[in-house]
Amino acid sequence: MSDYTTKVMDQVRAKNAHEPEFIQAVQEVITTIAPVLDAHKKYEDNCILERITEPERTIIFRVPWTDDKGNIHVNRGYRVEFNSAIGPYKGGLRFHPSVNLGILKFLGFEQIFKNSLTTLAMGGGKGGSDFDPKGKSDREVMRFCQSFMTELQRHIGPDTDVPAGDIGVGGREIGYLFGQYKRLRNEFTGVLTGKALHWGGSLIRPEATGYGCVYFAQNMLATKGDSVEGKVCVVSGSGNVAQFLVEKLNQLGAKVVTMSDSDGYVYDPAGIDLEKVHWIMELKNVRRGRIREYADAFPGVQYFPGQRPWSVPCDCAFPCATQNEINGAEAATLIKNGCKLVAEGANMPTDLDGINAYLEAKILYGPAKAANAGGVATSGLEMAQNSQRLNWTSEEVDAKLFDIMKNIHENAYTHAQEFAAATGSTDGFTNYVAGANIAGFVKVADAMIDQGLV
Ligand code: NDP
Repeated sequence: MSDYTTKVMDQVRAKNAHEPEFIQAVQEVITTIAPVLDAHKKYEDNCILERITEPERTIIFRVPWTDDKGNIHVNRGYRVEFNSAIGPYKGGLRFHPSVNLGILKFLGFEQIFKNSLTTLAMGGGKGGSDFDPKGKSDREVMRFCQSFMTELQRHIGPDTDVPAGDIGVGGREIGYLFGQYKRLRNEFTGVLTGKALHWGGSLIRPEATGYGCVYFAQNMLATKGDSVEGKVCVVSGSGNVAQFLVEKLNQLGAKVVTMSDSDGYVYDPAGIDLEKVHWIMELKNVRRGRIREYADAFPGVQYFPGQRPWSVPCDCAFPCATQNEINGAEAATLIKNGCKLVAEGANMPTDLDGINAYLEAKILYGPAKAANAGGVATSGLEMAQNSQRLNWTSEEVDAKLFDIMKNIHENAYTHAQEFAAATGSTDGFTNYVAGANIAGFVKVADAMIDQGLV
């Protein structure tokens, strides 16, 4: 690292000492963009790193609500408006007991570069609450969402900040949040994405993150003259991203042998085919059940409570649950068992040791901010349709998603090749981490310089 990056990293550590995930995300970006910073002194002269690692605005608020028995509860709500250099803040809302400011800052920071990679005009933001929707009735979730939006509505808008879903925030929550925004503001606008189809949502938005991640994997494999057809795949998670990723892998002829939730994973050597993944969609989205029920419903399936699926031999791995779900040892196990590709559906699912293991083994590694950008890209398409008061067909949206993922891959690939020597890749290996970070950074940093010290 140069003197400049070392100085900024030290400052970030000192100022955010209690936010390990945020420090991890910043370190990953800063170390990989070093060649660009060395080549262009304007970024240091304009203190771009110091500015880009500090959110433009952070909002923290009280969310009081009552349960079905009339008891009062208080949760904490957040919105981190990180960077608006290239468009309105855009990023999901996460409802999960593990949510804190550091987690949302890491997610908001990643979102800046991801949104830049999509080529659409979207800045970076993230928000959420430590509220846990699991085990709550629909009425309780509605009252919570209404209370959350009562405060959040002051800070967002279709040209200011456009939240979407994330862990624990699906179609049901977006509906309640949108309803309260509309009631308080008396405006029907595209202020949230992930809306239902019959009131402003976009076809393919629910599918987009999972489908897009598979398209990205296909693009990586194509550089080797290969494809996902016939590949044995290990997937974690069983929520929105995992469900549609498994659907698309099946459509393209791959075999998926695991899915999971926070209690454990299921291993189905016969493959989680289309019929079975649609059963999982009903289990998780309608009955709100647990993945262990899959092992009772289908023969030959094993359930591993309290474990993650990374010891199962595979050709390709798709982490789609949460951050830091693959550590260095688990990455090494994947590689030892023959895994040749990792494409990240979740945000920052691999820790820094795990990333180093992939890079040392020179496997195809699609980092989250490139591989899962299909979700936010399609949110951008939903915003465009809302502004035009038009609905595009699913074929149109899927074709645009397909092209966007191809462009993101090309952008990351080209930047990785351009800076290959400086990032230590002299044998034709594509370091997509460096490529994605550099491509995402340059556009935002140049916009910040153009717009002056704001
Ligand atoms: P969902 O809430 O729909 O599903 C999350 C899945 O991950 C569930 O199976 C959940 O299990 C599991 N999970 C959550 N937390 C943990 C944990 N701490 N340990 C183990 N398993 C866990 O969320 P999404 O599918 O939307 O999001 C999954 C990931 O993808 C997240 O990292 C998110 O940030 C990222 N992402 C999502 C996008 C989207 O469009 N939805 C866009 C880009 C990235 P359980 O049911 O037990 O909670």
